[in-house]
Amino acid sequence: MVYRVLFCAKGSVSMEGIDYGEVVVGDAASLQNKIAAIRAAGPSKLQVIADFDGTLTKYNINGQRGHTSHALLQQGNREYDIKRQKLYEYYRPLEICPTIPVDEKTKLMEEWWEKTHALLVEGGLTYDDIRKSVTNARIAFREGVVGLFELLELPTREPGSLVPDDQVENHFKMKFFSVNPSSFNEKGVPVLIFSAGLADIIEEVLRQKLHRSFKNIEIVSNRMVFDDNSHLVGFKDKTIHVLNKNEHALDMAAPLHDAVGNADGPVIDFATMKKRTNVLLLGDHTGDLGMSDGLNYETRISVGFL
Ligand SMILES: [Mg+2]
Repeated sequence: MVYRVLFCAKGSVSMEGIDYGEVVVGDAASLQNKIAAIRAAGPSKLQVIADFDGTLTKYNINGQRGHTSHALLQQGNREYDIKRQKLYEYYRPLEICPTIPVDEKTKLMEEWWEKTHALLVEGGLTYDDIRKSVTNARIAFREGVVGLFELLELPTREPGSLVPDDQVENHFKMKFFSVNPSSFNEKGVPVLIFSAGLADIIEEVLRQKLHRSFKNIEIVSNRMVFDDNSHLVGFKDKTIHVLNKNEHALDMAAPLHDAVGNADGPVIDFATMKKRTNVLLLGDHTGDLGMSDGLNYETRISVGFL
């Protein structure tokens, strides 16, 4: 059962204990039931799956469309920047065309992504181009994103984990109650950023805009391969585009993207992630609803950003 909360510019909804701001809620009672179920199950059952472009990042910045992780890239070769822009001008209208059947559109998107990636290799791209492109990009996180990451990173404990004082280690004792040490999860609630963009660029955006790393964040996206001189030579694995963010994409991403992120960063454990059956799903594209298809989830709250 899918429940959707749509953020929009008009209207507001207020519910007991929750300030929703400007949102559209389809079924307020259902949402409350889901929130109660997620709270009762505790943080060890929860994960957040978020799209990146237009979801974690702002759609508009000072009246202009914010850059996506693909669009911000300037590969230091104007001829190829123009070629990629021409592909955008051809395929973008097809992406948003409501009358093209999904299977046909899926093939078109695959075609677009693969041509774009080929141009990045052919036209030459270095990691330094990525750094400079991100520095010069019109990109920013939505208000509240950093706070959400910080909140989710906090160590969590499970409901019902309170035990008598004399049964726990001293350092876990708190002022009014004690907590079973084994119920702590030091990594907090995991956040999976699932993007049809470019993993290497998303990581650089996180580095430059957040100035810190989060141990509970993992990125599943199109991953570049560089040679020893930091020149792009190809991409790992099958392409992830806007319409294949489904179970297949998640499963095929797992083995080859398992060491993504900072070299010394965390390695995502997909088996454990699949046991986290309560999901907060954040997206801005209908294809983003497929991001949790690989999970046999119990409760999902889907938030669509406009
Ligand atoms: Mg998006």
